[in-house]
Amino acid sequence: MRLFEGTQWDRPPRCDRCGELEEACTCPPLPKVLTPPEKQTARLAVEKRKKGKVVTVVRGLPADDNDLPALLGRLKAACGAGGTIKDDELEIQGDHLERLRGLLAEIGYRVRG
Ligand SMILES: [Zn+2]
Repeated sequence: MRLFEGTQWDRPPRCDRCGELEEACTCPPLPKVLTPPEKQTARLAVEKRKKGKVVTVVRGLPADDNDLPALLGRLKAACGAGGTIKDDELEIQGDHLERLRGLLAEIGYRVRG
């Protein structure tokens, strides 16, 4: 039971942004609240994959706290290499440890590895 239920102050909940009833609200969902890079630690590692392929893996940056597709795009562009997102890991083809360490630090992440 809500406070004021059944009285003139008993109003159904309305959207804070458009003032419509929540059922009628068509506001776009709010952008994800991301965690600032300074509060996260990226862990870097160079690993071997099948057929001797070498990849640089970035761990420790959860998808909920980061715009991983955008970040992957920046890393790929900086390295001039391909890459993918696997679960919460970013994988860049080739050994780009130094470059990624510098770039992630520049963005503001703490970097380990
Ligand atoms: Zn709304």
